[in-house]
Amino acid sequence: MGEAAYDVVVVGAGNAALCAAISAHENGARVLVLEKAPEEEKGGNSYFTAGGFRFMHNGLDDVREDVLVDMSDDEADKMILPTHDRQFFYETLMKVTRGQSNEDLAWTLIDGSRPAMAWLRENGVRFIPMYGRQSFLVDGKQHFYGGVNVEAVGGGPGLVDFLMKRCSDLGIEIRYGTGATKLHQQDDYRITGLQVRAPGGYEDIDCKSVVLACGGFESNPEMRVRYLGQGWDLARVRGTRHNTGDGIQMALDIGAVPYGNWSGCHSVGWDISAPPFGDRWVLDNFQKHSYPLGIMVNMHGERFVDEGEDYRNLTYVRFGKAIMSQPHYTAVQIFDQKTVGQLRDEYRIKEITRVVGNTIEELAEGLDIPADKLKETIEAYNAACPDQATIDAQYNPAILDGIGTKGISPAKSNWALPITEPPYEAWVTTTGVTFTFGGLKIDEKNTVQNKADRPIPGLYAAGELVGGLFYENYPGGTGLMSGSVFGRRAGQYAAEHARTLNA
Ligand SMILES: Cc1cc2nc3c(=O)[nH]c(=O)nc-3n(C[C@H](O)[C@H](O)[C@H](O)COP(=O)(O)OP(=O)(O)OC[C@H]3O[C@@H](n4cnc5c(N)ncnc54)[C@H](O)[C@@H]3O)c2cc1C
Repeated sequence: MGEAAYDVVVVGAGNAALCAAISAHENGARVLVLEKAPEEEKGGNSYFTAGGFRFMHNGLDDVREDVLVDMSDDEADKMILPTHDRQFFYETLMKVTRGQSNEDLAWTLIDGSRPAMAWLRENGVRFIPMYGRQSFLVDGKQHFYGGVNVEAVGGGPGLVDFLMKRCSDLGIEIRYGTGATKLHQQDDYRITGLQVRAPGGYEDIDCKSVVLACGGFESNPEMRVRYLGQGWDLARVRGTRHNTGDGIQMALDIGAVPYGNWSGCHSVGWDISAPPFGDRWVLDNFQKHSYPLGIMVNMHGERFVDEGEDYRNLTYVRFGKAIMSQPHYTAVQIFDQKTVGQLRDEYRIKEITRVVGNTIEELAEGLDIPADKLKETIEAYNAACPDQATIDAQYNPAILDGIGTKGISPAKSNWALPITEPPYEAWVTTTGVTFTFGGLKIDEKNTVQNKADRPIPGLYAAGELVGGLFYENYPGGTGLMSGSVFGRRAGQYAAEHARTLNA
C-alpha cells in the first residue's frame, strides 16, 4: 500500500470536527475535513446554535483573563456573573441525567472545559456575555443565571465562521458535498482510510486516523422511530438535515459497541409552524423558552408539567419530550401582561404562532381549546399562587425564588404569578428534536471501543455521536462545550496515532 496522503481525516465540519481538525494540525498532522453538506449548508447543527457555552469558572475576573478578553471595566461593573465551579458543573450534569452520565466522560468534559474556552479564544473565536437570553436586570445590574452565560460573537454562525477561518488560515482543506460512507480496516482492525460519496462518485481515501464528528441520527426519521419510539418520526428537526447517523452506522458496521441513551434525545418546545428541518435565517428562534414565566397547557386545556420546577436550562429538554405525549404533540404557552415584556427575544420574531385574547374564553376560542376547561385550569392555578404581598417581597425571575403554588398538581414551584392581566397571549408549540444521545463509546484517548471493549486503532470520535454523557436530559450549553473538549482531544490523539505509524 502506498503512503497515505493524509494523517488524519475528520468526518464532518461542525464545531467538534473543526476543533478536531485544528488540534490535529497543531499536533503536526496533515489533515483533511470531509463535509457531506454542500458549502451553502455548512456548519452542521453548530451553525443553528446560539453559540452558548457552559464551562467551569470562578466568576467574572477569572473569565475576563482569557475568554471575555475584550470586555471593558465599565461593562464588567454592570454585571454579576455567578461562579460555575468544577463541583457545581458536575452536580448539574448528574442532577439532570439522574446520575447516569459516565463519570470519566463527565470529568473529562468538566476539566477540559475551561482550557478549551481559552484555546478557542487563542484560535480566534471571540466571546461576549449572553445578555439577551441568560440575564435579567435587577437593581441596575445585569444578573446572569443558569450556567450558560457566554456566547460566541455572532452565535452559531459566528462560531462556525471563526473556526472555518482558522482552518483556512492553517491551510486545512474542507471538502464539501463529500460524505463518508464506509471505514476501511486491516485484519488487525487498524483503520486505513475510508470510502466517500463525492459529487463525481465513490472514492477511497487512505489515512492513518479517522475522527468521526458527523453528528447523531436526529435527521433520520427511520432511526428516530426505531430508537426514540413511536411518533418521533413526525417530530420537527431543529438543525441540519445532514445528521443521519452515518458516523455511528459506519462504526457499528466494523464492530463498534453502541453506548449511551439510544432512546433519548435533546428536544424542546418549538413553534408549530416551523419547517421539517432548521431554517438558516430563523435559526433557533422557533424555540420558546420563557415558559417559566407563564403556564403550559395541552389541547385539552390541562397543565402537564411544573413550569417553574428549575431554571429553564435544566428543564427544557424534559419538557420538549413531554410535549410528544400530549394530544396532537402540541403545547400552548400562556402569559399575561405582567410577564409578556420579559419574554425572550424569540417571542418577537414574525414566524410565530401566536393567539391573543382579552378574556380566557376568547383566548381558548382562538386556540381551539375547550373554553370551560381552560378557564377551570387557569382559575385553579391562580387560586394556588401565593398572595400579592409575598409576590411583591420575593418574586425574582433571575433566581429560584420559591414563589410556588400550593395544593395543585402539577405544582408550579417557582415564579408562580397568577394569570390575571389581559390581554392574554399564547404561543403554540410542538416538539423540535435537537440531537440524539445514543452513540459510540470512547476511551480516555477518545478512541472508539469495539464490542470487546477494546479500542479500534486509528478510530476516534467527538461531538454528538459520542454516547454516555447525556441521559434523558441535558444541561444547556454542554453540546458545544463537549464538541470542543472532545474534538480537541480527538484531534490530538488522532495525530499522535498517525505519528507513531509514521515513525
Ligand atoms: C437550534 C439549535 C440550537 C442549539 N443551541 C445550542 C447552544 O446554544 N449551545 C450548545 O452547547 N448546544 C446547542 N445546540 C446543540 C449543538 O448544536 C450540538 O450539540 C453541537 O453543535 C454538535 O456539534 P457536532 O460538531 O457534534 O455536530 P454538527 O455541528 O451537527 O456537525 C456534524 C456535521 O457532520 C456532517 N455530516 C453528517 N454526516 C456526514 C458524513 N457521512 N460525512 C461527512 N459529513 C457528515 C453534517 O453535515 C454536519 O455538518 C443547539 C442545537 C440546535 C439544533
